[in-house]
Formats: sequence, C-alpha cells, structure tokens
Amino acid sequence: METKELWHGIPRKEIPWFPTIDADACIGCTLCFLTCGRNVYEMQGNKSVAVKPYSCMVGCSTCSMVCPTQAISFPDRELINKLEREHKIFGIVRKESAEKKAKLDAAKARAVAEDEVAKITSRTRFEIAGEFGEKRFLVQMEELVKDYPFDFINVNLSVPTVKGAFENTPSFMTFEVTSTEQADIQEFLPLVRDLIRRNGLILSSENKL
Ligand code: SF4
Ligand code: SF4
Repeated sequence: METKELWHGIPRKEIPWFPTIDADACIGCTLCFLTCGRNVYEMQGNKSVAVKPYSCMVGCSTCSMVCPTQAISFPDRELINKLEREHKIFGIVRKESAEKKAKLDAAKARAVAEDEVAKITSRTRFEIAGEFGEKRFLVQMEELVKDYPFDFINVNLSVPTVKGAFENTPSFMTFEVTSTEQADIQEFLPLVRDLIRRNGLILSSENKL
C-alpha cells in the first residue's frame, strides 16, 4: 500500500502535502532519493520523480532542505495548521501520544527486566580434572546440595578405565550447577570451588551458561 491511510484521523489522500520537483532545476544529484526514508522518490534517468507522493510525511520537508538547486517545493505550512484547526485533531493526537508512551514505557520495563535476568547466573558449567578414585566426590557433591535449592546436572565422569580410576589415574569430569528454584546460583559457586580445591582437583574451566 502506498500510504498510511490516515493522518491523525484525516484521510491522507485529502492532504495535498508532497514534494513538487522542478524538472528543469533538478540536476539528478540523487540526494532527495537517498534522503527520503519513505521511498517517495524514484530516479528516472537523470531526474528525480515523486512516484509515491502520498507516502510523504505530512509536515516533513527535509528533501527540499538538502536539494542543492532548490528544485523541490512544498505547499505553505499554513495548509497543515488549517487542517489541524478544522479537523480538531488534537484529541486524536493526545490519544495516539498516550498509546505511544505506553508502548515506550512497556519496552523500557521489558529492557529493565531483561537486564535483571541477564545479571542472574542460573547455570554454570565446570570442567575439572584429577584423581577421583577414593575421594567419593559424587557423594560429597550430593551432600553439598542437600541444604540448598541448587543441583548438579549433566554430570559426566570420564575415566580411562575403571581399574585405572581406582588406581588414581587422572580422570576428567564435567557438570553444571543450576538452581531448582530459578534462583541466582552465584552465592553457591564458591562452595563448589571449595569442594574442588579440598579434593585436590584441578578446575580447568568455569563458564556461565
Ligand atoms: S536533490 Fe534536487 S537536484 Fe538532487 S535529485 Fe533531488 S530534486 Fe534533483
Ligand atoms: S518531505 Fe520528507 S517524507 Fe516527504 S518526500 Fe521529502 S524526505 Fe520524504
């Protein structure tokens, strides 16, 4: 569709606000074509043509400002003031403004809420290595989460061989710390690091997910 149908309640096609181009003065610089965000213009050969005049924003005259040869003209702005008075558009404008403000406020509130969520650490992945054989590390992990609303998930212990594990061959473990109540797990992470350290294991990496 070429135009938005209404301008604050007035049918756009009833408002003769659009650019008129003096073809003789136009030097085809393309500035108006490039500047207009509403695609009113098309370059036809070396001349600019307003192919979608009613897509022009009522009251805008930017293209005429940038035209180097003053080839673009608009009606007198009194035309707009007259329309505003005759159609008493300000009731509609106030309603539209309230709707716009509500949308902006909602977007701001959403951005704040998203920021808050981004600050929360709800899942962290650990990679550790070392000798697990006699340490009963899994049991200690279970004891650690017993009194907290947190849990270890996706636990993977990679041992070269079962015998090797019990002969203290270095093994590798990954797990994720998460909350069972969508809570921030940051206060719990030092306890996990401490458990790893107390068991003489090496913390290879720790990444917030
Ligand atoms: S800005 Fe002026 S001179 Fe340049 S193309 Fe548009 S009408 Fe022509
Ligand atoms: S006045 Fe504004 S909206 Fe209208 S044609 Fe020029 S740049 Fe585009």
